[in-house]
Amino acid sequence: MMIQLKLSLSRLATRLSTNIRWQCRIPVRLCNLLACSRKDNPHWQNSVAGGNHQSPINITIRDSVYDPHLKPIKFSYDPNTCLHIWNNGYSFQVEFDDTTDRSVISGGPLANSYRLKQFHFHWGAKNDWGSEHAIENHLYPAELHLVHWNTVKCHSFMDAVMEENGLAVVGVFLKLGKTLEGLQQMVDALPAVKHKDSVVEFNKFDPSCMLPSCPDYWTYPGSLTTPPLTESVTWIIYKKPTEISKSQLNAFRSLLFTPPGQEEKKMVDNFRPLQPLMNRKVRSSFQVLQDLLYLEGGSKKPANVPLFRS
Ligand SMILES: [Zn+2]
Repeated sequence: MMIQLKLSLSRLATRLSTNIRWQCRIPVRLCNLLACSRKDNPHWQNSVAGGNHQSPINITIRDSVYDPHLKPIKFSYDPNTCLHIWNNGYSFQVEFDDTTDRSVISGGPLANSYRLKQFHFHWGAKNDWGSEHAIENHLYPAELHLVHWNTVKCHSFMDAVMEENGLAVVGVFLKLGKTLEGLQQMVDALPAVKHKDSVVEFNKFDPSCMLPSCPDYWTYPGSLTTPPLTESVTWIIYKKPTEISKSQLNAFRSLLFTPPGQEEKKMVDNFRPLQPLMNRKVRSSFQVLQDLLYLEGGSKKPANVPLFRS
């Protein structure tokens, strides 16, 4: 059921900040024409990534350091805080009631609890790419981002976007495999948000169904991957991917960047290119083993293609 929503100023600002297309220059991850050529959005024009802590990055074993103090992340999500799904013209976003501490994460690198605001995905037109982060140059077909904000340090989500340690984003790679039963409820709702700017009510969903059972993760200080690109994010990237089926991923790809009445543009390749690590350390909650079995399901970037845009 489509519903009309009266947006608060902050929510509108949040949505505009994510409603951006990216100029892409890395040949290994080709964007469709709409995603690459859209420069008319005023937020994009004013959002120049000038910092040294930008995201996403390629995580390498060489650059990461095991930190034995990193304990597993604690997730406490209340399915009743789930509100709606919104096609923002760049991805689809599942938004939560963040007025109280009913859905939070804590532990690991986080000094206090962070409240769930929304989750969304990035994915490719093909199965060989789609994730924003890479592991040892491997890309996955899609990546989930669970976005949380620091309610101890910040008064609002928008304050947190601008604040160091204001946000904690949990990244989970998705690989093709068996159907993720818990996700099907959301997949079934996607046709209702096929077009840009459409919103559908969506309740009683627990995002923890998308988390891998293995608690191992990497963490590093980084940025939003959509404007305003602020370096306010503690990234937590899970080592193991979660499996979803081909038909579930194809449901993502059946969405549109475009509103009704315009020439249809498939919503695919909605990721930001990799950014240089610069002077940062990536910490791991686990000791590196010799095997790279966890990379199964991903694809390796061709050796002759540069990882970073200059
Ligand atoms: Zn994201």
